[in-house]
Amino acid sequence: MILVTQPFLPPLDEYQNYLNSIWTKKWLTNMGPLANELEDSLKNYLNIHNLLFVTNGTVALQMAIKALDLKGEIITTPFSFIATTSTIVWEGCTPVFVDIDKHTLNIDATKIEAAITKNTSAILATHVYGNPCDVVLIEEIAKKHHLKVIYDGAHAFAVTINGKSIFEYGDITTCSLHATKLYHSVEGGFITTQNTELHHKLQYIRNFGIAGYDSFAELGINGKNSELHAAMGLTNLKYINQIIEKRRELTKRYDDNLKTLKAVRPLWHHQSANNGAYYVLIFETEALLLKVVEHLNKNNIGTRRYFYPSLAKALPYLQPIEMPITEDIAKRVLCLPMYYDLSFEEVDLICRLMLRVQNN
Ligand SMILES: *Cc1c(COP(=O)(O)O)cnc(C)c1O
Repeated sequence: MILVTQPFLPPLDEYQNYLNSIWTKKWLTNMGPLANELEDSLKNYLNIHNLLFVTNGTVALQMAIKALDLKGEIITTPFSFIATTSTIVWEGCTPVFVDIDKHTLNIDATKIEAAITKNTSAILATHVYGNPCDVVLIEEIAKKHHLKVIYDGAHAFAVTINGKSIFEYGDITTCSLHATKLYHSVEGGFITTQNTELHHKLQYIRNFGIAGYDSFAELGINGKNSELHAAMGLTNLKYINQIIEKRRELTKRYDDNLKTLKAVRPLWHHQSANNGAYYVLIFETEALLLKVVEHLNKNNIGTRRYFYPSLAKALPYLQPIEMPITEDIAKRVLCLPMYYDLSFEEVDLICRLMLRVQNN
């Protein structure tokens, strides 16, 4: 059985060393020494100034919306994981979908202005599969219309644009460190912002709004993460370059093998490199995709229709609306197995099976 993804697990003894230190210090959560060390290590690795380790990528988005005091309408993409939209609704705001670009699969920034109304407070865009959005145009539009910008960077760990971290764009960027992501702490996430004042506000929000022994600064939530999760993050961080390197090699292997497949890959931002978070194909037709999925399943190989269906249509708590490009792409997009322990031989097998279906 080859699953579509499998979490990276570091050597157990290295994790055990961190556990020993936790047992010695008897400090399990509430911004402990390992959580602080992880924040410092991540800031250093990503080359950014502010970072808060939090419960998960979903709470990170909720905290971002709350910290920016967003109200009314938030412009967003219908082509993302459910949490990008559900957090907007959860925070009492209204998601306003803008269709995606059919090549990059990110929100089509040229269509954002037409969706702005007097009730719009922000743009929440996802760097889909780690492929950077058109951050320059989005910033221009946001400045002109006095909108805040949040990026859902759940897929974009270690991504840069022209050498600058993707986490330094927009007012706030969030990331998920869930076990299925490129880099993980089992469950977890983080929030980054360039704005020091906002960073302090988020710090309060993460800890119930508590300011001191007997005072409160903000409306807050429990957004903290534990020492055991921080320990996993610290252990895995030692392997991150190796993980990305392997995923890039696997990506190249797929690319080389699948040259004759009737499918294309998303168009990547020209100043950025693919971090290998996902291997994504857009098939010529949904019929071919379904044939491929069926044949791979029969051979015990997992795939994911990530992201299908369109969030603009599938949610029982939102009025369904037509987003033609998202609709079309969502039907034809497929993620193939991609993880650190996947072997080149397994990639070759997957590719042979796919080409056989197409040529039958
Ligand atoms: C995984 C993911 C999230 C949610 O992150 P969790 O850590 O699982 O809460 C949010 N947005 C996107 C785009 C994701 O892929």
